[in-house]
Amino acid sequence: MKVGVLGAGQLGRMLAIAGYPLGHQFGFSGNSQNEPSSLLGHLFINDNKSLVDFADVITFESENTDVEVVKKIAKTVAVYPSAKSLFTTQHRGREKALFDQLNIPCAPYQMVNSEEDLKQAVEAIGLPAILKTATEGYDGKGQFLLHDTSQITQAWNSMQAKESILEGFVNFKRELSLIAVRDTDNNHKYYPLVENTHHNGILRLTIAPAQSIDPEVQKTARHYMQTLLDEMEHVGALTIELFETETGLVVNEMAPRVHNSGHWSIEGANTSQFENHVRAITGMPLGDSVPTHPFCAMINVIGEIGDIETVLKLSNTHLHLYDKEERADRKLGHINITANSQAELDASIKQLKGFLP
Ligand code: AMP
Repeated sequence: MKVGVLGAGQLGRMLAIAGYPLGHQFGFSGNSQNEPSSLLGHLFINDNKSLVDFADVITFESENTDVEVVKKIAKTVAVYPSAKSLFTTQHRGREKALFDQLNIPCAPYQMVNSEEDLKQAVEAIGLPAILKTATEGYDGKGQFLLHDTSQITQAWNSMQAKESILEGFVNFKRELSLIAVRDTDNNHKYYPLVENTHHNGILRLTIAPAQSIDPEVQKTARHYMQTLLDEMEHVGALTIELFETETGLVVNEMAPRVHNSGHWSIEGANTSQFENHVRAITGMPLGDSVPTHPFCAMINVIGEIGDIETVLKLSNTHLHLYDKEERADRKLGHINITANSQAELDASIKQLKGFLP
């Protein structure tokens, strides 16, 4: 099939790398020739119409994709995930309302449209709390951590009058995420819960599967995922980010797409998140999502390429670069590690410590 991707970044690039061996072709809509996907298929610059003419099925790379554009395209060619999933997941308030409706625990929250609203929300929720823009935040951008009521004006000003949400601060032990894929026949495949470490809001390290997970916690996370996939009739990959707390799981947010915390699955799972997303949207049976090794990890390459010689010398690591120019805080690539023991994993991460903050 011809798969059209709205966007031409690294996620589209890795979808194509996974999809070509299945016999598919790819096209992308991007903003310039210099996008990570540019060599991986037809690149239509600011031209969705040509992408739609090219494609048998369309998907998107980002939850910030315009829902109206997706609705219009869907009249001509199938789009997966649907506009319904996109509409819900691109707005933190709509997302949290769905969590409430489905009895999925999340932080207490209140929508904020003015400084006065923020004052009331702080009274209702208490401090510390985090103010976030309702849409378009990524890598911790568009967020303000409030410790004290004296910060209310500054916090609201930092939102630049955009619709926002105040969330109670969750005292978490660690951050986890879960990725699953659903096809058009309602078959589901789940990857294991993974553990994520961020620095300045940017994901730096994923350990997959997350170690020492209580089977009940894994079961609960899967139940939340299954409920969300079915409620939204989601087709393709869905990611939920969670906090593990002393009293159980709290869901933070979700993304209607393959996710940085699933990049380990390229070598670390029998079928990667990218291949399974492509299979789901092209009507192919989903592949096995079981890890190939008991101890896997992913380290992001951020800002500068760094010492890739070391990566290439190790026998259990794989380098994935996205063909992007170096720039502070930019995701340029990632390194996957597969290991048969905790000791082997720890030793590999230690050798790659130059890539970690
Ligand atoms: P987000 O963009 O919602 O994923 O937030 C970015 C990061 O901020 C998360 O990965 C957490 O480390 C932290 N964070 C977000 N929301 C909360 C919260 N309600 N309580 C505590 N930490 C949070």
